[in-house]
Amino acid sequence: MVVDTVIEGGRIVSGDRSFEGAVAIDEGTIVGLGDPRHLPDARRTIDATGRLVMPGIVDPHVHIDDHVSIDSYETATKAAALGGVTTVIDFAWQAWEGEGSPWDEEGTLLDGLERKREKAADALIDYGFHGGLLREGSDFFDEVEDVIDAGVTSFKMYTAYEFGLSNGYITRVLDRLADLDAVGVGHTEDDSVCEAVTDTLREEGHGPSVYPTSRPDYAEAMAADDVARTARELGAKYYGIHTSCRKSAEAIERYQADGSLIRGETCTHYTTLTGDLHEELGNLPRIAPPLRSDDDIDALFDALRRDVLHVVSTDHVAQTREAKENSEWWEGPFGANGLQVSLPVFHDEAVNERDLSYTLLTQVMSRNPAETFGLADKGTLDPGTDADIVLFDPDAEYTITAADNASKADYSIYEGRTVRGRVDATLVRGEVVVEDGEVVGDPGHGEFVERELPDWSA
Ligand SMILES: [Zn+2]
Repeated sequence: MVVDTVIEGGRIVSGDRSFEGAVAIDEGTIVGLGDPRHLPDARRTIDATGRLVMPGIVDPHVHIDDHVSIDSYETATKAAALGGVTTVIDFAWQAWEGEGSPWDEEGTLLDGLERKREKAADALIDYGFHGGLLREGSDFFDEVEDVIDAGVTSFKMYTAYEFGLSNGYITRVLDRLADLDAVGVGHTEDDSVCEAVTDTLREEGHGPSVYPTSRPDYAEAMAADDVARTARELGAKYYGIHTSCRKSAEAIERYQADGSLIRGETCTHYTTLTGDLHEELGNLPRIAPPLRSDDDIDALFDALRRDVLHVVSTDHVAQTREAKENSEWWEGPFGANGLQVSLPVFHDEAVNERDLSYTLLTQVMSRNPAETFGLADKGTLDPGTDADIVLFDPDAEYTITAADNASKADYSIYEGRTVRGRVDATLVRGEVVVEDGEVVGDPGHGEFVERELPDWSA
């Protein structure tokens, strides 16, 4: 047997092991892993000497080409591939009617799915979608099974903004998702508390550096507690996104138990940056929930090590510097671009500074997001799964600058940060899409991944 590709000479790192070895790939699938002398001959050999061979990053929280993010699929997935990300989960939104809505009339999740699938035609890497609920309609309950059949097995709800949902509606949704074995996803901040504190700070006449205090950690924890508690009561699978602080991680942990159906995520920026960045950069780092404190960063790492939080994502959002700077600190646009640098930045903080193991790194960035969201062929180097692979040089040092951005975002909240560890190459289903830190793959290589209903019993 002769296979397409063998990657040899590097150190294999995956969610459960780390060893010197090789990976064999044929027709886009991993067909062998281990001692290169026992692997088949290959038409092409990739020399990974001095580098780590890791499963591609699975980022289950990104925003591309919609009312919150100006990236196209081509620009966002080029940024992703340069960052070693091989699968993203974006959002297929319900259209809602309101001040901030880009739509003229209401639409269903299935409409939203069709819209996003068309936009994603130029993707370089693989992608899936969460259903995004933006209004309290009965149509959700009529279509949810069709949406799941279409490969969308998780549903996001907000407790804040004009499209935030009431606890009552969230209860109805979680109850139905529990019946169907699907996953509820929550952006949790108590809206009225955030608005009240924001109003007070506005009246006092503060500048942008006050922004992090305008959306307090306890407001995030209050809403996280409400939704996680409801999910626990109803036996629903629940995933709390972008956990930013100690108090919110504690709220999630409160409802976890053996075989828990309550999971949580944090993002690269919450583990590496603090709210005082606003003093330097004004509105540029404005995200919600906001950047917090050093104590919160310590708590988030502790939660990752203890399996209270399971995933590190980017919550990638592309906006221009101009849009950020020409707005008041209490208004949008929110969000930060991070796909291109998430792995190097998190690796530098987690592994180099805090001694997190490589196996834990690949668990929280690859294996766990794939398992959590029903991506059976992603997130591991196990034979039989997709050959989505990153070659990572753990010793290469470089300084991050937005001048290198593939994203349409023309700034970086990590500008000037020097990190040790760099993505050299990225393979998506066996095809090299990034080589020597440059995009070499063609837009359109990426495929829509139909996700299964995940099994969280393991
Ligand atoms: Zn988000």
